[in-house]
Amino acid sequence: MNSKQQQVAIVTGASRGIGAAIAQRLGREGYAVVVNYAGNAAEAARVVQAIADGGGSAIAVQADVADPAAVRALFDQAIAQLGRVDVLVNNAGIMPPQLPALADTGDDTFDRLVAVNLKGSFNTMREAGTRLQHGGRVINFSSSLVGTRLPGYAVYAATKAAVETMTNILAKEMRGKGITVNAVAPGPTATALFLDGKTPETIARLSAMAPLERLGTPDDIAAAVAFLAGPDGAWINGQTLRANGGMV
Ligand code: NDP
Repeated sequence: MNSKQQQVAIVTGASRGIGAAIAQRLGREGYAVVVNYAGNAAEAARVVQAIADGGGSAIAVQADVADPAAVRALFDQAIAQLGRVDVLVNNAGIMPPQLPALADTGDDTFDRLVAVNLKGSFNTMREAGTRLQHGGRVINFSSSLVGTRLPGYAVYAATKAAVETMTNILAKEMRGKGITVNAVAPGPTATALFLDGKTPETIARLSAMAPLERLGTPDDIAAAVAFLAGPDGAWINGQTLRANGGMV
């Protein structure tokens, strides 16, 4: 691929879990990748190295997506170092390992979930709305919990439902720019976010919910993102794709 025309993808929260798999997949597909992370510089550096080892190019950029100035600086740095941004994958997200009922949920938990999952996605989408190349792609992250509505996940699922709504509206607002905006909504996926704080019995029960009877892998989700980012996804716009083995 001509380096002048190489497409650039920002993947938020790409130091670990699903984001790391997406960054590596997009790196293999020829995108120059911005590996964003919040605090884990060493893990982000490992992802950058893995992409380079596979013949791709990537840089690591620290930014807390909850901070609008940091997100602006993330886009500034991507454009300064790589020249353009074509794809934004809004993967960064948090879920507390303890999941109390709504009535027992503290203000700090509510505020942090909204700050990272909802405001964080807003902050990056706002930059993308004016700074993505014509023909670009925004791929947001929801959760299949918006469909299953399991007890304990009220605030987390609410932040993701809001992201799905913004996905659909931003898609309409991008009229004339050739930019698609979609969301991927994984089911239970084997990462720290899902596994931490759960007993083996809970993990087995949630794994069995999908008719395919297993947890998703980060690579399963990266494949869905690569489809939406690539030419085969060109006609999908304003949609949420549930990647969950058929759970809901
Ligand atoms: P992980 O906890 O494994 O990884 C989270 C990643 O997000 C890390 O790279 C972390 O960076 C980064 N991150 C966290 N907070 C911020 C922040 N404020 N700013 C920038 N980066 C941040 O999560 P998953 O890979 O499991 O989840 C990825 C996405 O998928 C999330 O949006 C999640 O809600 C969604 N999802 C996951 C499911 C699952 O079962 N795993 C199911 C449904 C949806 P650092 O390493 O620096 O901390």
